[in-house]
Amino acid sequence: MLPQVVIIGRPNVGKSTLFNRLVGKKLALVDDQPGVTRDRRIGDVDLLGLRFKIVDTAGWEDEDAETLPGRMRAQTEAALVGAAAAMFVIDSRAGLTPLDEEIGRWLQRSSVPVILIANKAEGKAGDSGIFEAYSLGLGEPVGLSAEHGEGMADLFDALLPII
Ligand code: GDP
Ligand code: MG
Repeated sequence: MLPQVVIIGRPNVGKSTLFNRLVGKKLALVDDQPGVTRDRRIGDVDLLGLRFKIVDTAGWEDEDAETLPGRMRAQTEAALVGAAAAMFVIDSRAGLTPLDEEIGRWLQRSSVPVILIANKAEGKAGDSGIFEAYSLGLGEPVGLSAEHGEGMADLFDALLPII
């Protein structure tokens, strides 16, 4: 069985764009388990020869801000069960938000290895956001542009020792 890697992060950081980039839209399939995992998408990835399953967590995009953290936490914890690694995505253009910091604390308490991804890092607009991401205490962030496909070799280097 291929190791499973879950993509975690608040809405709008580029999780689904990264999922599509890694999988290619044609291979994406929908996992319609009921409950908190109802909107998970699972796909097969071959990243420079490294093969794994990737899970895109979603389903809270339209939630109101009050209930968002609780629902996200339940879904994040469900997604982490059995995962070999988590990719925690932040938006390096927007900088860290309180919700990013909260998710970072959940992930620090989890036993699943975390790869911190500073997305939207194309050009120079993400530089300060990448630097800020160190403060999450989750190691060196991988600067990435899911939309433009930049940084994929660095993602490979970060994943290789883990999965
Ligand atoms: P999700 O809610 O975390 O799944 O985020 P989405 O994948 O839906 O992306 C949210 C928005 O960010 C969309 O408008 C994307 O086009 C944009 N986006 C995603 N990746 C990048 C990136 O690498 N660079 C830039 N500039 N925008 C991106
Ligand atoms: Mg999404």
